[in-house]
Amino acid sequence: MKNKSFKLLIYGLSAFFITFINVAFATGHPVSRDSSVSARFKFRTLVIDAGHGGRATGASGSYSLEKNVTLAIALKLQQAVQKEIKDINVLMTRTTDVFVNNGLRAVMANDNKANLYISLHCNSLPNVRKVVNGKTVSVPNRSGKGVLLLVNIFRRSGEQVAAIMENQFAEEEKAYSKKEVNALSPEDAIMLNVYRDKYRKQSIHFANLVNNEFVNTDGRNSLGVIEQGVQVLAQTSMPSILVETGFINNPEEEDYLNSDQGQNEIVNSIVRAIKQYKREVEQVPQ
Ligand SMILES: [Zn+2]
Repeated sequence: MKNKSFKLLIYGLSAFFITFINVAFATGHPVSRDSSVSARFKFRTLVIDAGHGGRATGASGSYSLEKNVTLAIALKLQQAVQKEIKDINVLMTRTTDVFVNNGLRAVMANDNKANLYISLHCNSLPNVRKVVNGKTVSVPNRSGKGVLLLVNIFRRSGEQVAAIMENQFAEEEKAYSKKEVNALSPEDAIMLNVYRDKYRKQSIHFANLVNNEFVNTDGRNSLGVIEQGVQVLAQTSMPSILVETGFINNPEEEDYLNSDQGQNEIVNSIVRAIKQYKREVEQVPQ
């Protein structure tokens, strides 16, 4: 049919011009070895990490354990992201009550070239020592309140440097042994710092987006966004944050963390933050 072939011709020409424009646009930018700094960056893969699991129970409240709360929130978050953000691949570090060591969690994220890593945890305050009738006793401190967002401070740990180098320079088939990591070429050392600086900024930015949702939408108390050494995140080579969803050893917060309402609020806040972050990194030329 004439009409059909005419349509096909138009589609063909449009496809050609769109490709041409994209190529022209892409070549107008500095060539980068990192897909996440190219103008056509696409946020594809999110890792949701339910903290602890199996024999690693984490913190405990009066009736619940951190490992179960983090898993419940992680599974709800997985469902919500898959439902609300269509073109995103969600990876879970665990979906059942199993022990997974932190190194393996990071390897899973790195091998799948994840664009963002969210580790879910519950906070808890240590007992305080008090002297009662001349005896030192340990008394629970249930006064902790609110969320806390952690971003790892990059240290020159061999593992992380190796992870970043392997991921970013994979197409060059460079394998970095620890020895080589300690003697990087000046060019590679510069590139490494560029990635670290970018991941740091993106992690802090995403943490702030999540924190703002918790505070402004859910009315949660917040202890803020803090940069510190975070073992759970230390070997990931992408923007990554740890979310302390609340204090499990504070009875009020334990109820909130175990309730459908509380878990849904936490999940919805994180989903809104992911949507905004995804929009930003995909739209803003980097
Ligand atoms: Zn934890």
